[in-house]
Amino acid sequence: MAKRSIKDVALDGRRVLIRVDFNVPIKNGAITDDTRIRASLPTIQYALDHGAAPVILCSHLGRPKGKPDPEFSLKPVAARLSDLLGRRVVFAEDCIGEPARTAVGQSGRGAVVLLENLRFHPEEEKNDPKFAAALASLADVYVNDAFGSAHRAHASTEGIVRHVKESAAGLLMIAEIEHLGRVLERPDRPFVAVLGGAKVSDKLEVIENLIPRVDALLIGGAMAYTFFKSRGLPVGASLVEDQLVDAAREIETRAKARSLRVELPADHVVAPASALKGEKVASEVLAVGDPAIGDRAGLDIGPKTIGTFRGVIAGAKTVVWNGPMGVFEIDAFAKGTIEVAKAVAAINGTSVIGGGDSIAAVAKAGVTDRITHISTGGGASLEFLAGRELPGVAALPDKP
Ligand code: AMP
Repeated sequence: MAKRSIKDVALDGRRVLIRVDFNVPIKNGAITDDTRIRASLPTIQYALDHGAAPVILCSHLGRPKGKPDPEFSLKPVAARLSDLLGRRVVFAEDCIGEPARTAVGQSGRGAVVLLENLRFHPEEEKNDPKFAAALASLADVYVNDAFGSAHRAHASTEGIVRHVKESAAGLLMIAEIEHLGRVLERPDRPFVAVLGGAKVSDKLEVIENLIPRVDALLIGGAMAYTFFKSRGLPVGASLVEDQLVDAAREIETRAKARSLRVELPADHVVAPASALKGEKVASEVLAVGDPAIGDRAGLDIGPKTIGTFRGVIAGAKTVVWNGPMGVFEIDAFAKGTIEVAKAVAAINGTSVIGGGDSIAAVAKAGVTDRITHISTGGGASLEFLAGRELPGVAALPDKP
C-alpha cells in the first residue's frame, strides 16, 4: 500500500515539521560528506514552495547518549543547509521546550528552523510518548523523510504520528519505498541480487527473503567464505562466521530446490591477512578450493569470477546490490567491487544499491549517475529487503 505523501497534504500557512536524516560525518566541527543533507533538499524545498510557515527540521546526529554534547551538535549542519538552500536557517538550541517554541513562534512563511539533536534527550530513542507529544506540539503537519532511521521505533519516527494532526512521507521516503518496494514486489526479470560485505549474519534475512524472488544470487566478499567452509573447502585465514556454516548450507539447499542460480566466486585474490593492516604484501590469484591458500586470506574475487558476475549482471533487467566483493578500501583488493559497480551501472534496466560501501564503490567507479536508485538508508534498506516492516514507515498513514 502506498503511503500518503507530502504532496497529498495542505501545507500553506501551516507549521510543517520534517524528520530528516542529517546524521552526517563531522570531523573537528566540519562536515566531511553532506550527501544526506542534499538528499533532503527536495522535500524541504517542496514545503517552502507550498507555503509552509515555517519549515521545522529535526534529526539525530551520532550517539550522544541522551544528553547534550557539543561534539554531536547539529549547529554545523544549520550553516551548511543555509548555504545549500540559499536562505537563513534559524537554529534552536533544543528540540523541545522554550528554545524550540520561541524559534518556531518567531518564524513564519518561508523560514527554516533546525532543531538541535533529538538524541540529546534519552526519551527520543525510548519512544517516550510525552517527548513525542512535545515535538508534535511544534507542528500542524509531520513529514517523515528520514528513511535511514525508519527501521527504528523512536519518538521522532514513530511515536510522534499519534500526537500530530496530519502525517505524511517526504519525497525521499516515497522514492525509497517505491524503488525498494518495486524490486521486491514486481521486478522486471531476470532479477539478480548481488550480495557482498563482511558478514552473512547481517544479510541472512535478506538472502532468505530474496531466494523466492530472484532469478540469480551472486555472493562475493567475505560472506562467501562461510559458504565455502560449509562445502568443506579450505579457506585459510579468510573471514568465516562459524556459527553460520549450517545456515549457509541450508541456503544453498533451498536455492537448489528452487533451481535458482547461485554463483559463488570460482577464483579469488589471496594475501597474508597482514594486508588488512595496511602492510604492503604480495597477492596471488588462486582457484577457490586450492589448498595453496595456506594461512592466507581471500580478499577479493578473481578475474574469472568477475567475468561470470559481469555476464549474469549484464543479462539482468533488475539488479539489487549490497556489499563490496572484497576489501575495496585497499586498492589491491578493489578490482572486483569496481568491476561489479560498472556492470551494475551498465545494465539496461533497474539498478538499486544500498549500503555505504556499495555507494562509495559506484562513486569510485564514476558511475553514480547511472544507478536507478541509491538508497540512503544502509540498515533500513537491508531491513526492507529482508521483508521486515519498518516502524517509521508503518506508522505513516496510507495514501487516501
Ligand atoms: P558490510 O558492512 O557487511 O557490507 O561489509 C563491508 C566490509 O566488508 C568492507 O569494509 C570490506 O572491506 C569488507 N570485506 C569485503 N570482502 C572482504 C574479504 N574478502 N575479507 C575481509 N573483509 C572483506
